[in-house]
Order: sequence, then C-alpha cells, then structure tokens
Amino acid sequence: MASIDAPHPERSRREPSKDAGTSIQSEAETAPEPAPAFAGSPVMLQYHEIKRAHPGCLLFFRMGDFYELFFEDAVAAAPALDIALTKRGRHNGADIPMCGVPVHTAEAYLARLIRAGFKVAICDQTEDPAEARRRGNKGPVRRAVVRVVTAGTLTEDGLLDARRHNYLAGIAEAAGEIGLAWLDLSTGSFALMPTAENALGGDLARLMPGEIVLPERLLARPALFELFAEWKSALTPLANPRFDSEAARRRLESFYGVRALDGFGSFGRAEIAAAGALVDYVALTQQGGAAYLAPPQRVLPGSVMQIDAATRRNLELTVTLSGERRGSLLAVIDRTLTGAGARLLAEHLAGPLTVPDAIMARLDAVAFLVARPDTRAALRQRLRHCPDIERALSRLSLGRGGPRDLAALRDGLGETAAIRAALAAPGLVPLPETLAAAEQGLGEHGVLVERLGRALAAELPLFARDGGFIAAGYAIELDQCRELRDDSRRAIAQLQARYGEASGVASLRIRHNNVIGYYVEVSAVNAGKLGADFMHRQTMAGAMRYTTVELSELESKIASAAERALALELRLFEDLVSEVMARRQEIAAAAAALAALDLAAAHGECASEGGWIRPEIDTGSGFEIRGGRHPTVEAALAGRGAFVANDCVLGEDRIWLVTGPNMAGKSTFLRQNALIAILAQIGAFVPASSAKIGIVDRLFSRVGAADDLARGRSTFMVEMVETAAILNQAGPQSFVILDEIGRGTATFDGLSIAWAALEHLHEVNCCRALFATHYHELTALAAKLPALACHTMRVKEWQGDVVFLHEVASGTADRSYGIHVAKLAGLPANVTARAEEVLQILEKGEQGGALARLADDLPLFRAARPMPATPEPKASPIEDALRGIRPDELSPREALELLYRLKGMLPK
Ligand code: ADP
Repeated sequence: MASIDAPHPERSRREPSKDAGTSIQSEAETAPEPAPAFAGSPVMLQYHEIKRAHPGCLLFFRMGDFYELFFEDAVAAAPALDIALTKRGRHNGADIPMCGVPVHTAEAYLARLIRAGFKVAICDQTEDPAEARRRGNKGPVRRAVVRVVTAGTLTEDGLLDARRHNYLAGIAEAAGEIGLAWLDLSTGSFALMPTAENALGGDLARLMPGEIVLPERLLARPALFELFAEWKSALTPLANPRFDSEAARRRLESFYGVRALDGFGSFGRAEIAAAGALVDYVALTQQGGAAYLAPPQRVLPGSVMQIDAATRRNLELTVTLSGERRGSLLAVIDRTLTGAGARLLAEHLAGPLTVPDAIMARLDAVAFLVARPDTRAALRQRLRHCPDIERALSRLSLGRGGPRDLAALRDGLGETAAIRAALAAPGLVPLPETLAAAEQGLGEHGVLVERLGRALAAELPLFARDGGFIAAGYAIELDQCRELRDDSRRAIAQLQARYGEASGVASLRIRHNNVIGYYVEVSAVNAGKLGADFMHRQTMAGAMRYTTVELSELESKIASAAERALALELRLFEDLVSEVMARRQEIAAAAAALAALDLAAAHGECASEGGWIRPEIDTGSGFEIRGGRHPTVEAALAGRGAFVANDCVLGEDRIWLVTGPNMAGKSTFLRQNALIAILAQIGAFVPASSAKIGIVDRLFSRVGAADDLARGRSTFMVEMVETAAILNQAGPQSFVILDEIGRGTATFDGLSIAWAALEHLHEVNCCRALFATHYHELTALAAKLPALACHTMRVKEWQGDVVFLHEVASGTADRSYGIHVAKLAGLPANVTARAEEVLQILEKGEQGGALARLADDLPLFRAARPMPATPEPKASPIEDALRGIRPDELSPREALELLYRLKGMLPK
C-alpha cells in the first residue's frame, strides 16, 4: 500500500502572510491538510481515480499550498521544470517519485510545461480543509479537476504573448469535405472556413495554432502524413464521434442559445463539425467554465490571399528565417499601442484580403488618419492607456478573472468616451466607413466605468480570494467589518505591550501561525515570569508559547471579522462580474473597436514616418510599382546609405527575368514587390512613390532555401519541392517570385530545369512573376516568349572592382561578376586568380578539350609551385626607392635631391 500523505520532510509549507498586523508577526493563514490517520489509502485512491479520468495529462494534485505530481508525472515534469525529484511513501514496494510546485507561483511552471508540449490537469481542493474537518475527517478533502491547461486553451497573460493570437484549431471531415475552425479562447474570436487537403498546410501556416484538435481517423490519411508530421507537437487527436456534424450543430445551437445556426451564416457540414468539436473541447478543458466566444465568422473561400508556409518563411512576414520577430515585416510596420491592436495586425498580415472593396475600406481609414496627424496623435495618446480588455473579459467569463481584470475594464472602457468624443469632432464627420463602425462599436459604458471606479481600491491583488480590493467607502458593511478587524489587531498590539510591561519581559511577542493561531511567546529563560493566567500551549527549542483568555477572545473577533470581510468582498466581486457579464457583447464590441482604431492609426503612423503612399487596388492583372522600396532592408539601412528605389511594371510583360551578379540586389527587388503586394492587400500604405496592384490571390516565393535536414531533404530537394508547388498551383491572378532555381545541381541540369520552369510559368501558369537567375542563357527565351522581359541589376566597374548600383534597368547582365564577389568575400587571391583562368577557358566554349587541359594543370595542388596563401602585395616604386636608401651615407644635399625625386614619383 502506498502513502502519499505523510508530511513533507524537505520543505516548509509556511508562507509569510501579506496581512500582518501592526506589531504582530504572523505565519501562513491557511492550514495544511492534516495527514489522514492511515498513511496512504484515501488520498491515494482519490489521486488514482482522478488521474485515470484524465489520460494524457500531467496531474497537478493540490495538497495544501502545493500542486504535487506523482509517479510517472513527476518523473516527466521534474526535468522539464528543473526541480528536484523527491519521493514520498511507497507503492507496491517501490518509492513513489514526487515533485511539486507552490500554488502561488504555479503559473510560471505551467508555462514551461505547456511550452514543453505537456497538457496539465489542475486538480484543486474543492472544499475548505476546515470543512473537511467538520465533516469529521471522513475521507480526504474533496478534490476535482477544475481545468485542463493545454497549449490552445490558455487565458493567462503570463502564459500568452500579448501581441499574438493563440489559436485552437479544429479540423473535421464530412461529406468528403474538410472544414477548419479556429478560436482564441483568450479573446473570444471564433471563425471557420471550408478547406481542402492541399490547402490545409497554407491555412495552418496562416493561423499558426497553438493546438489542433482533429479526429483520429484523419491522422491516418496518407495525403496529410507529411503535414501532420510538421505539426506533430500541436496535434490533439480525439475520438471520431466528437466530430460528428449533427452533434456539432446541436452543440453550437445550445452554446449560443439559438434554434438554428442560419443567423450566423450558412456553413458546410465539415466546418460545423470542426467548430462543434472545438466548443466541445473547450467545455472539456474548462470543466464547464462559461467561455465567451463571439458567434463564428465564416471566412469565405478565396477571400484571403493564399500564401504557403515556405513563402511565409522566405518573406519573413512575422518572424525572420532565424525565428526572431525583430527584422520581420511585422516588426518593421508594427506601431500599434495595444495588445489587441497588435494581434489584429498580425492576423491581417497573415491573411491579406483579396476583395478590393474590403481593402479599400481599410485604406480609407488609414488615409483619413494620415491626413490628420493631430487626430491621430490624440487617438494614440488615449490608446496608450488602454489595457487588454479582450483578455480580461475572457478570464472573467471563465471564472478565473481577478480584481485586476475588472480594473482593466474600468480603464479601457473609461477611455472609450473620450475617444468617441474625439472622433465626433465637427471637422471629422463624416468618418470613413471603418472608423464610423469603430466609433459606433465603442458604445456607452459610463455606468459600469463609474461603478468600477468607486468599487476598486488603488492597489489590487491578482486574485479575488486575497481580498482587500474593494475600496473603502464602497460598502458600509465591509467598512464596518474592516474597522472591527483593525481595532482588534490594534488591541493585540496593545496587549503585547501590556503583557511585556507587566511581566518585565521586554522580548515578549504575540505571534500567529496556522496551526495554533495567536500565541504569546517568550524565551525559555523568561517562562517563569508570566502570571497564572498564561496557559501553556507549546514548548519549542528555547521558547515557550502561551495563550490567555483575552487573547483567544480577540483572536476569534479578528478571525470572524476577516472572514466576514472576505466573504463580503467576494460577494461584491461576483456582483461586479455579473454586471460585466451582462454587458459582455457590448464590451467585446468596444474591445474590437479599440483594436481597429489602434490598427488604423498605427498604419497611419508608419505611413507618415516612412513617406509611404496609398496603393490603388483593382481586379485586373496589372502590377505597377514606381519607386518601390523594401521595407525591412530600407529600415536596416537607415542611416547607413540610402536605399535605391526601383520600379516594377508588369503589364504586357508579365514575367521579368532579372539577371545581375550576386549582391547586386536581385533578392531584395523580388521580395520588396511581394511585400508591397501583401501590405497593399492588408489595407496598409506601401513604401513606393506609386502603386497599382491587380489583386493577387496567391503569392508564391522560392528564395534561397536551406537544407531541411529535419525532414531529410537536401537544399536541392527543398528547392524542387517549392518549385513544384508553384508550377502546379499558380494561376493567372498569382504573383510568383523565383530566386535562382536549379542552382543546387550541375550547371546544365540546373539551367535546363530553370529553362523549362520559365516556359511553364509563361505558357501554363500565365501568372505575374519575377524570376532572378544567374543563367544568362535564359535571356534567349525573351525572343520566344512574348510576355517575358529581361531586366538586370546595374553594376559599374571601377578600377577593376565592381560597384553595385542596386538599380534595375531593362536588358541583361553582360557577366556574372561571381569572382569579383568572391574577392570581396575574402577568398584567397590564388584561388580567385585561378578561377579567372578557368573562366576564360570555359568562356571560349570548346569546353571538352579545354577542361581536360585544365585538369592536367592543377597549380593549386602542385608542390613544385607552392602558392602563398595570400601573396605579398606588390610594392610601389616609391616603396622600392625608400627601401634602397641608406640615410647614414647621404650628404645633406643628396638627401634633399632624394626628397625631390621621391615627391616626383607620386602618382599625378
Ligand atoms: P542578390 O540577390 O543580387 O545577391 P541581395 O538582394 O541579397 O542581392 O542584396 C544584397 C545587399 O545589397 C542587401 O543586403 C542590401 O544591403 C543591398 N541592397 C540590395 N538592394 C538595395 C537597394 N535597392 N538599395 C540599397 N541597397 C540595396
């Protein structure tokens, strides 16, 4: 038999109380659960029962002030948390491994476990240990799992990135279709769309969900093997019946309290199945907590630009290739001031729109704020003071909000009135559609804000259970209780002084701990000096503890006043929360409006700072960028030389073949045009002097891939996989950038692949494309393919060196300058010299025989002709002359003549 309820030998469960009285030192206020008489059985049984009911989760088992983990959970969690693995009791003759974390710092540990890919079931004590004692200690304290924490269902600020959504995605299949739904439990946003096997990868790359629930049977789908392998750590497979579309429909109807879902839109069965499974999963993990979820929004198929995962990575939209936010497009354009605004920006950037009207509406709002810097500045000044009310609202809905969440609502909603007033200023009306909608959405929250303002104290604890958050003067009854409690505390302080004086023991103290409550303590040597009314309680090493009738009376007064005060506060908290809940929709609307305003103003700010312009969008297939710049390269170059702007005009010539040496700016040019299309279609201004863009429905890029060894793919394989995706999928509205294809193989192989790919793009895909290449041979295709135009990056040769002008001009590069770049990069001079030699022979064309001759003549390997690693620089004639001089042997006159001669040798 096991025992997991023996006392902890390793650590004290005592914590100092925050609420210590004047001169009274007190210890923890909650008593640990007393160890049941028979070590082991009841708690142990309880543990096993709860653990069995939550397979796949670590169980955080509340014992007093700690969450304990046992058995295999402890073995798995201890190293992940970097905490000691100890043991407690024995089970079946073996030690029971155990580790634990203090309840009040559990969040930080949870964060680590979730990041490490675990799910954690939080099992709390659902009754007061004192109550359990009153029950007569029959069985252990009641415990139950109050929540299962998973990566996709987080709501705590400490577990989340304030500036990014954390999506829980669901995939389901019905009637041969695949549906995708996603929600952010921390903000209540909820959306769904139909998708397809081959589009799912792009969709997931757009959402970057923290967790994906899906039916077990989909895992076995061969076409999805590779995709799911990539998302392995985020997958939560569930039993197939959870994805039944009819059950899902009923679940959604009951969740929203509607008779039919038609009011929200018309959805396919697969989408409903996915959405229903998500609502079900949320209920499962939140153990019945009433999540707030906005009605599901349907994302229409084709309404967002499709960008596959590789393209997102290559273009460094939200993170750089090395995984950092800094240096990404998002980081460069993000001027939002609130978490919700930042999340909205990230969401927009992940899914640019393809519907011109919707884009135009966003652009109108930005243009309006660009043209009115004062309004923008005033708006931003207000937004700076807006806390994250979306997340506060979500926590309050789920019953895990605290006083600080109420304060966030007070402050955030408090700003809405002033913002509305600012937007209603006479000079501003009529507002563009998006801003007018936001202004309406802000709503009217005066009554709630005023009440929260009166109710909340200046300093707020994180949890309501800590008490002390209701302001004085808000509730008379509470004020009275607190007075009583404080009076009694003062009385105890006086009692301590009085006892000290009467006994002559100056070191006499009245203290408090959880086990015996208040007591008088004197050192052992002073024990005899106390009168008969001091009743002995405990003998400690070197100290004696007593109580008195007076002290006991005061103690019970304090306890009952504090208890009543806390109970009152909790009731007042619940009242405030219900008032908030009654207005949840209005509050959510205000939060959304604030985010929209923040984003429009942020785009306005970015546009003004960078001198960006409003793009024109239409449904055509043109692409005309004048004076375009690369947003992140330009930002990186700031202060270190100007970025050279370039035009990109794809009309009759749909495909530009861009040649030019390495480092000349080809990749930059290709990417900047893709990024400008993205910026335009999220409804932002763009870094150019003018831009006219025919909607891009799909964006593809193939830009210098790296080995993907984790998936067992070489550079060349990655390159070909990406190229295949483009050639198979790009259509007439697509925009493709291809940077160097066919490089990872032999020259002729590579050239042939590039050649055929270019023909395919031109003839079959009929898309707009920028194709950068080193293979000058491809320029010959321009004569044959009418929509292909050749462009090159201009370079200048100066004193034997190449100077990159970073200018795109029509025409083709005359040579590659690869050896020049190699020189710049510091290749040993003998290597570059030899390379020049080889190049000359190769360029003469009669390669077969020439190569054989070259191979016979291998200067680098020949011992007889060792080449210095870096040859001595050739001395100038002046240096030679100087070296020849013997100053001691010169007469003054000779010296003077020599000086004239040397000066005469200087280059004119
Ligand atoms: P390529 O693809 O031709 O090898 P890149 O596009 O990688 O060249 O450009 C190399 C470097 O040149 C960039 O890192 C950037 O610093 C600079 N550069 C590129 N384009 C420009 C430009 N238009 N203006 C100024 N500097 C540029």
